[in-house]
Amino acid sequence: LIEERIHETVMEVDLDAVVHNFNFYKSKLSPGVKMICMVKANGYGAGAVEIAKTLQYHRCDYLAVAVTEEGLALRSSGISLPIIILNPEVNGFEELFSNDLEPEVYNFRILEAFIKEAESRGITHYPIHIKIDTGMHRLGFLPEEIPQLLGVLQSQKGLHVKSVFSHLAASESWIFDEFTNSQVETLKLASEEIEKGLGYSVYKHILNSAGIERFPDAQWDMVRLGIGLYGVSASGLKGLRNVCTLKTTILQIKNIPGHETVGYGRKEELNCDARIATIRIGYADGLDRKFGNRNGKVLINGKFAPIVGNVCMDLCMIDVTEIEANEGDTVVVFGETPSVIDLAESIGTIPYEILTSVSPRVKRIYI
Ligand code: PLP
Repeated sequence: LIEERIHETVMEVDLDAVVHNFNFYKSKLSPGVKMICMVKANGYGAGAVEIAKTLQYHRCDYLAVAVTEEGLALRSSGISLPIIILNPEVNGFEELFSNDLEPEVYNFRILEAFIKEAESRGITHYPIHIKIDTGMHRLGFLPEEIPQLLGVLQSQKGLHVKSVFSHLAASESWIFDEFTNSQVETLKLASEEIEKGLGYSVYKHILNSAGIERFPDAQWDMVRLGIGLYGVSASGLKGLRNVCTLKTTILQIKNIPGHETVGYGRKEELNCDARIATIRIGYADGLDRKFGNRNGKVLINGKFAPIVGNVCMDLCMIDVTEIEANEGDTVVVFGETPSVIDLAESIGTIPYEILTSVSPRVKRIYI
Protein backbone atom coordinates (compact mmCIF):
# COMPACT_ATOMS: atom_id res chain seq x y z
CA LEU A 1 0.00 0.00 0.00
CA ILE A 2 2.79 2.40 0.88
CA GLU A 3 4.47 1.65 -2.49
CA GLU A 4 1.22 2.44 -4.34
CA ARG A 5 0.77 5.70 -2.50
CA ILE A 6 4.33 6.88 -2.65
CA HIS A 7 3.59 9.23 -5.51
CA GLU A 8 0.88 10.98 -3.59
CA THR A 9 0.98 13.35 -0.70
CA VAL A 10 0.46 11.21 2.37
CA MET A 11 0.80 11.36 6.10
CA GLU A 12 2.26 8.22 7.59
CA VAL A 13 1.06 7.61 11.13
CA ASP A 14 3.16 5.28 13.24
CA LEU A 15 0.75 3.54 15.61
CA ASP A 16 3.56 1.73 17.45
CA ALA A 17 4.96 5.16 18.26
CA VAL A 18 1.55 6.18 19.63
CA VAL A 19 1.58 3.12 21.88
CA HIS A 20 5.15 3.87 22.94
CA ASN A 21 4.24 7.47 23.85
CA PHE A 22 1.08 6.35 25.66
CA ASN A 23 3.09 3.89 27.77
CA PHE A 24 5.83 6.47 28.27
CA TYR A 25 3.39 8.89 29.94
CA LYS A 26 1.60 6.06 31.72
CA SER A 27 4.88 5.08 33.35
CA LYS A 28 5.03 8.58 34.85
CA LEU A 29 1.67 8.21 36.59
CA SER A 30 1.13 7.06 40.14
CA PRO A 31 -0.77 3.77 40.42
CA GLY A 32 -4.49 4.20 39.84
CA VAL A 33 -4.29 7.53 38.00
CA LYS A 34 -6.52 7.32 34.92
CA MET A 35 -5.45 8.43 31.48
CA ILE A 36 -7.74 10.55 29.33
CA CYS A 37 -6.37 10.73 25.78
CA MET A 38 -7.24 13.69 23.59
CA VAL A 39 -8.37 12.65 20.12
CA LYS A 40 -10.04 15.93 19.18
CA ALA A 41 -9.39 17.62 15.84
CA ASN A 42 -9.15 14.23 14.16
CA GLY A 43 -6.64 13.00 16.71
CA TYR A 44 -4.44 16.09 16.30
CA GLY A 45 -4.54 15.34 12.57
CA ALA A 46 -3.37 11.74 12.93
CA GLY A 47 -6.85 10.20 12.51
CA ALA A 48 -9.16 9.99 15.51
CA VAL A 49 -10.68 6.59 14.78
CA GLU A 50 -7.41 4.73 14.26
CA ILE A 51 -5.79 6.40 17.25
CA ALA A 52 -8.83 5.67 19.42
CA LYS A 53 -8.92 2.00 18.34
CA THR A 54 -5.24 1.66 19.19
CA LEU A 55 -5.78 3.29 22.58
CA GLN A 56 -8.84 1.20 23.33
CA TYR A 57 -6.83 -1.95 22.62
CA HIS A 58 -4.08 -0.71 24.94
CA ARG A 59 -6.50 0.01 27.77
CA CYS A 60 -6.68 3.75 27.81
CA ASP A 61 -9.33 4.78 30.37
CA TYR A 62 -11.05 7.68 28.67
CA LEU A 63 -11.10 9.73 25.48
CA ALA A 64 -11.94 13.39 24.96
CA VAL A 65 -12.98 15.27 21.84
CA ALA A 66 -14.04 18.85 21.25
CA VAL A 67 -17.45 18.54 19.59
CA THR A 68 -20.32 16.06 19.56
CA GLU A 69 -19.77 15.07 15.90
CA GLU A 70 -16.30 13.85 16.81
CA GLY A 71 -17.76 11.69 19.56
CA LEU A 72 -20.43 10.28 17.23
CA ALA A 73 -17.77 9.34 14.65
CA LEU A 74 -15.91 7.39 17.32
CA ARG A 75 -19.06 5.62 18.52
CA SER A 76 -20.07 4.65 14.99
CA SER A 77 -16.67 3.06 14.44
CA GLY A 78 -17.01 0.87 17.48
CA ILE A 79 -15.25 2.84 20.21
CA SER A 80 -16.84 1.92 23.53
CA LEU A 81 -14.52 3.83 25.90
CA PRO A 82 -16.07 6.67 27.89
CA ILE A 83 -15.82 9.88 25.85
CA ILE A 84 -15.89 13.46 27.14
CA ILE A 85 -17.27 16.14 24.81
CA LEU A 86 -15.40 19.30 25.76
CA ASN A 87 -17.44 21.97 24.01
CA PRO A 88 -21.03 20.70 23.80
CA GLU A 89 -23.83 22.90 22.53
CA VAL A 90 -27.45 22.70 23.60
CA ASN A 91 -28.70 21.48 20.23
CA GLY A 92 -26.64 18.26 20.45
CA PHE A 93 -27.97 16.94 23.77
CA GLU A 94 -30.15 14.18 22.34
CA GLU A 95 -27.17 12.64 20.57
CA LEU A 96 -25.10 12.84 23.74
CA PHE A 97 -27.64 10.81 25.68
CA SER A 98 -28.23 8.25 22.98
CA ASN A 99 -24.51 7.69 22.41
CA ASP A 100 -23.24 7.71 25.98
CA LEU A 101 -21.17 10.83 25.43
CA GLU A 102 -20.29 12.74 28.59
CA PRO A 103 -20.41 16.53 28.35
CA GLU A 104 -18.16 19.09 29.90
CA VAL A 105 -20.47 21.58 31.62
CA TYR A 106 -18.92 25.01 31.68
CA ASN A 107 -21.70 27.52 32.43
CA PHE A 108 -25.25 27.86 33.76
CA ARG A 109 -26.79 28.02 30.29
CA ILE A 110 -25.48 24.56 29.40
CA LEU A 111 -26.12 23.20 32.89
CA GLU A 112 -29.75 24.25 33.05
CA ALA A 113 -30.53 23.16 29.49
CA PHE A 114 -28.92 19.79 30.15
CA ILE A 115 -30.85 19.24 33.39
CA LYS A 116 -34.10 20.09 31.61
CA GLU A 117 -33.32 17.68 28.79
CA ALA A 118 -32.33 14.86 31.18
CA GLU A 119 -35.40 15.31 33.38
CA SER A 120 -37.78 15.47 30.42
CA ARG A 121 -36.48 12.04 29.35
CA GLY A 122 -36.60 10.57 32.83
CA ILE A 123 -32.81 10.21 32.84
CA THR A 124 -31.10 10.22 36.23
CA HIS A 125 -27.43 10.40 37.23
CA TYR A 126 -26.14 11.19 33.74
CA PRO A 127 -22.35 11.71 34.01
CA ILE A 128 -21.09 15.24 33.47
CA HIS A 129 -17.70 16.90 33.91
CA ILE A 130 -17.66 20.33 35.55
CA LYS A 131 -15.06 22.74 34.18
CA ILE A 132 -13.66 25.39 36.52
CA ASP A 133 -11.91 28.46 35.15
CA THR A 134 -8.82 28.68 37.35
CA GLY A 135 -7.10 31.43 35.37
CA MET A 136 -6.98 30.48 31.70
CA HIS A 137 -10.21 32.43 31.15
CA ARG A 138 -11.54 30.25 28.39
CA LEU A 139 -14.51 27.99 29.33
CA GLY A 140 -15.55 27.20 32.88
CA PHE A 141 -17.33 28.35 36.02
CA LEU A 142 -15.42 30.92 38.04
CA PRO A 143 -14.65 29.81 41.63
CA GLU A 144 -17.01 32.45 43.00
CA GLU A 145 -19.89 30.82 41.08
CA ILE A 146 -19.52 27.52 42.95
CA PRO A 147 -22.17 28.24 45.64
CA GLN A 148 -24.72 29.00 42.92
CA LEU A 149 -23.54 25.96 40.94
CA LEU A 150 -24.05 23.75 44.00
CA GLY A 151 -27.52 25.20 44.49
CA VAL A 152 -28.49 24.10 40.97
CA LEU A 153 -26.82 20.69 41.21
CA GLN A 154 -28.34 19.89 44.62
CA SER A 155 -31.87 20.53 43.40
CA GLN A 156 -31.86 18.03 40.54
CA LYS A 157 -31.44 14.29 39.94
CA GLY A 158 -30.78 14.20 36.21
CA LEU A 159 -27.04 14.72 36.35
CA HIS A 160 -24.18 13.19 38.30
CA VAL A 161 -20.87 15.05 38.56
CA LYS A 162 -18.24 12.53 37.56
CA SER A 163 -15.32 14.92 37.51
CA VAL A 164 -14.31 18.48 38.29
CA PHE A 165 -11.48 19.76 36.15
CA SER A 166 -9.60 22.74 34.82
CA HIS A 167 -7.05 23.52 32.12
CA LEU A 168 -3.57 24.94 32.61
CA ALA A 169 -2.65 28.01 30.60
CA ALA A 170 1.14 27.66 30.54
CA SER A 171 2.21 24.33 32.04
CA GLU A 172 5.18 24.06 29.67
CA SER A 173 6.76 27.30 30.75
CA TRP A 174 8.78 27.49 33.97
CA ILE A 175 8.53 31.27 34.08
CA PHE A 176 4.82 30.80 34.85
CA ASP A 177 5.22 28.06 37.46
CA GLU A 178 3.85 30.25 40.23
CA PHE A 179 0.75 30.93 38.15
CA THR A 180 0.41 27.23 37.28
CA ASN A 181 0.68 26.29 40.96
CA SER A 182 -2.03 28.81 41.76
CA GLN A 183 -4.29 27.20 39.12
CA VAL A 184 -3.60 23.80 40.71
CA GLU A 185 -4.43 25.12 44.19
CA THR A 186 -7.60 26.85 42.95
CA LEU A 187 -8.89 23.61 41.42
CA LYS A 188 -8.04 21.68 44.56
CA LEU A 189 -10.11 24.07 46.70
CA ALA A 190 -12.92 24.22 44.13
CA SER A 191 -13.24 20.46 43.89
CA GLU A 192 -13.21 20.10 47.69
CA GLU A 193 -16.00 22.66 47.95
CA ILE A 194 -18.00 20.85 45.26
CA GLU A 195 -17.49 17.42 46.85
CA LYS A 196 -18.59 18.79 50.21
CA GLY A 197 -21.67 20.41 48.71
CA LEU A 198 -22.65 17.32 46.72
CA GLY A 199 -21.85 14.81 49.43
CA TYR A 200 -19.98 12.46 47.12
CA SER A 201 -16.49 12.29 45.68
CA VAL A 202 -15.60 13.28 42.14
CA TYR A 203 -12.56 12.73 39.95
CA LYS A 204 -10.22 15.73 39.77
CA HIS A 205 -7.92 16.52 36.84
CA ILE A 206 -5.91 19.45 35.55
CA LEU A 207 -2.74 18.16 33.83
CA ASN A 208 -2.20 18.25 30.07
CA SER A 209 0.93 16.72 28.48
CA ALA A 210 3.41 19.32 29.72
CA GLY A 211 1.61 19.27 33.06
CA ILE A 212 2.21 15.50 33.33
CA GLU A 213 5.86 16.14 32.49
CA ARG A 214 6.36 18.92 35.01
CA PHE A 215 3.78 18.75 37.84
CA PRO A 216 3.66 15.14 39.10
CA ASP A 217 2.10 16.21 42.41
CA ALA A 218 -1.05 17.35 40.62
CA GLN A 219 -1.89 14.05 38.92
CA TRP A 220 -4.78 13.43 41.34
CA ASP A 221 -7.32 11.03 39.78
CA MET A 222 -6.87 11.60 36.06
CA VAL A 223 -4.64 13.37 33.53
CA ARG A 224 -5.39 14.54 29.98
CA LEU A 225 -2.72 13.56 27.49
CA GLY A 226 -2.73 15.40 24.16
CA ILE A 227 0.26 16.49 22.10
CA GLY A 228 2.66 14.14 23.91
CA LEU A 229 0.75 11.15 22.58
CA TYR A 230 1.55 12.43 19.10
CA GLY A 231 5.27 12.62 19.86
CA VAL A 232 5.73 16.26 20.76
CA SER A 233 6.89 17.39 24.18
CA ALA A 234 6.10 21.02 24.83
CA SER A 235 8.61 21.07 27.69
CA GLY A 236 11.43 19.47 25.71
CA LEU A 237 11.25 16.05 27.37
CA LYS A 238 13.29 13.32 25.62
CA GLY A 239 12.10 9.77 24.99
CA LEU A 240 9.03 10.27 22.80
CA ARG A 241 8.75 8.75 19.33
CA ASN A 242 7.70 10.67 16.25
CA VAL A 243 4.19 9.70 15.12
CA CYS A 244 3.32 11.68 11.97
CA THR A 245 5.43 11.99 8.82
CA LEU A 246 4.09 14.16 6.00
CA LYS A 247 5.53 13.09 2.66
CA THR A 248 5.11 14.13 -0.91
CA THR A 249 6.88 13.70 -4.21
CA ILE A 250 8.78 15.68 -6.84
CA LEU A 251 6.66 16.11 -9.98
CA GLN A 252 9.09 18.09 -12.15
CA ILE A 253 12.64 19.45 -12.07
CA LYS A 254 14.11 22.10 -14.38
CA ASN A 255 17.04 24.48 -14.67
CA ILE A 256 16.06 28.13 -14.36
CA PRO A 257 18.47 30.96 -15.18
CA GLY A 258 19.40 33.43 -12.46
CA HIS A 259 17.34 36.64 -12.18
CA GLU A 260 14.14 34.89 -13.27
CA THR A 261 11.31 34.65 -10.77
CA VAL A 262 9.54 31.60 -9.40
CA GLY A 263 5.85 31.31 -8.59
CA TYR A 264 2.80 33.52 -8.07
CA GLY A 265 3.28 37.21 -7.59
CA ARG A 266 6.91 36.89 -8.81
CA LYS A 267 7.86 37.18 -5.13
CA GLU A 268 11.20 35.49 -5.43
CA GLU A 269 13.88 36.36 -7.95
CA LEU A 270 16.66 33.77 -8.19
CA ASN A 271 20.06 35.31 -7.53
CA CYS A 272 21.85 32.67 -9.64
CA ASP A 273 21.08 29.77 -11.98
CA ALA A 274 19.12 27.15 -10.05
CA ARG A 275 17.53 23.69 -10.27
CA ILE A 276 13.96 24.11 -9.22
CA ALA A 277 11.74 21.18 -8.31
CA THR A 278 7.96 21.36 -8.08
CA ILE A 279 6.49 19.19 -5.33
CA ARG A 280 2.96 18.02 -4.85
CA ILE A 281 1.90 19.87 -1.73
CA GLY A 282 0.31 23.27 -1.27
CA TYR A 283 -1.63 25.30 1.19
CA ALA A 284 -4.80 23.30 0.47
CA ASP A 285 -2.96 20.29 1.89
CA GLY A 286 -2.08 22.25 5.00
CA LEU A 287 1.31 23.66 4.03
CA ASP A 288 1.07 27.20 5.36
CA ARG A 289 1.85 29.97 2.84
CA LYS A 290 4.20 31.43 5.44
CA PHE A 291 6.65 28.64 4.56
CA GLY A 292 7.16 30.23 1.14
CA ASN A 293 10.07 32.43 0.10
CA ARG A 294 12.67 30.34 1.94
CA ASN A 295 10.98 30.40 5.35
CA GLY A 296 10.54 26.64 5.21
CA LYS A 297 12.56 23.69 3.99
CA VAL A 298 11.87 20.07 3.15
CA LEU A 299 14.07 16.98 3.27
CA ILE A 300 15.10 15.07 0.13
CA ASN A 301 17.55 12.17 0.21
CA GLY A 302 18.84 13.36 3.57
CA LYS A 303 19.41 17.00 2.51
CA PHE A 304 17.36 20.15 3.11
CA ALA A 305 15.88 22.09 0.21
CA PRO A 306 14.34 25.54 0.80
CA ILE A 307 10.84 26.37 -0.41
CA VAL A 308 11.12 29.01 -3.16
CA GLY A 309 8.53 31.67 -3.99
CA ASN A 310 4.96 31.62 -2.76
CA VAL A 311 3.34 28.31 -1.79
CA CYS A 312 0.53 27.54 -4.30
CA MET A 313 -2.77 25.81 -3.54
CA ASP A 314 -1.67 22.31 -4.55
CA LEU A 315 2.04 22.66 -5.27
CA CYS A 316 5.14 24.50 -4.25
CA MET A 317 8.64 24.90 -5.61
CA ILE A 318 11.91 24.06 -3.89
CA ASP A 319 15.53 24.79 -4.69
CA VAL A 320 17.46 21.54 -5.32
CA THR A 321 20.54 23.13 -6.93
CA GLU A 322 22.85 21.67 -4.30
CA ILE A 323 20.98 18.40 -3.89
CA GLU A 324 20.90 14.99 -5.54
CA ALA A 325 17.21 14.94 -6.51
CA ASN A 326 15.17 13.36 -9.29
CA GLU A 327 11.59 13.53 -10.48
CA GLY A 328 9.57 11.00 -8.47
CA ASP A 329 11.78 11.28 -5.39
CA THR A 330 10.13 11.39 -1.99
CA VAL A 331 10.15 14.62 -0.05
CA VAL A 332 9.64 14.75 3.72
CA VAL A 333 7.78 17.89 4.80
CA PHE A 334 7.86 16.95 8.46
CA GLY A 335 8.57 13.88 10.54
CA GLU A 336 11.63 12.85 12.50
CA THR A 337 13.48 15.63 10.60
CA PRO A 338 12.41 18.32 10.11
CA SER A 339 10.20 17.96 13.15
CA VAL A 340 6.86 19.71 13.59
CA ILE A 341 8.61 21.71 16.30
CA ASP A 342 11.20 22.97 13.75
CA LEU A 343 8.47 23.83 11.27
CA ALA A 344 6.37 25.61 13.86
CA GLU A 345 9.32 27.69 15.00
CA SER A 346 10.20 28.76 11.46
CA ILE A 347 6.81 30.45 10.97
CA GLY A 348 6.12 31.52 14.54
CA THR A 349 3.40 29.02 15.37
CA ILE A 350 3.01 25.90 17.53
CA PRO A 351 3.30 22.19 16.59
CA TYR A 352 -0.42 21.74 17.35
CA GLU A 353 -1.31 24.02 14.45
CA ILE A 354 1.09 22.31 12.04
CA LEU A 355 -0.35 18.86 12.86
CA THR A 356 -4.01 19.80 12.84
CA SER A 357 -3.70 21.79 9.60
CA VAL A 358 -2.93 18.76 7.46
CA SER A 359 -6.06 18.71 5.33
CA PRO A 360 -8.46 15.79 4.83
CA ARG A 361 -7.34 15.25 1.25
CA VAL A 362 -3.93 14.10 2.49
CA LYS A 363 -4.34 10.36 2.92
CA ARG A 364 -3.36 8.95 6.28
CA ILE A 365 -1.43 5.71 6.08
CA TYR A 366 -1.04 3.65 9.23
CA ILE A 367 2.24 1.86 9.67
N1 PLP B 1 -7.35 19.34 28.10
C1 PLP B 1 -8.01 20.28 27.41
C2 PLP B 1 -9.26 20.86 27.97
C3 PLP B 1 -7.52 20.72 26.17
O1 PLP B 1 -8.17 21.66 25.49
C4 PLP B 1 -6.31 20.15 25.68
C5 PLP B 1 -5.73 20.57 24.41
O2 PLP B 1 -5.91 21.60 23.88
C6 PLP B 1 -5.65 19.17 26.43
C7 PLP B 1 -6.21 18.79 27.64
C8 PLP B 1 -4.38 18.53 25.98
O3 PLP B 1 -3.36 19.44 25.92
P1 PLP B 1 -1.93 19.01 25.36
O4 PLP B 1 -2.15 18.67 23.93
O5 PLP B 1 -1.08 20.21 25.54
O6 PLP B 1 -1.50 17.82 26.15
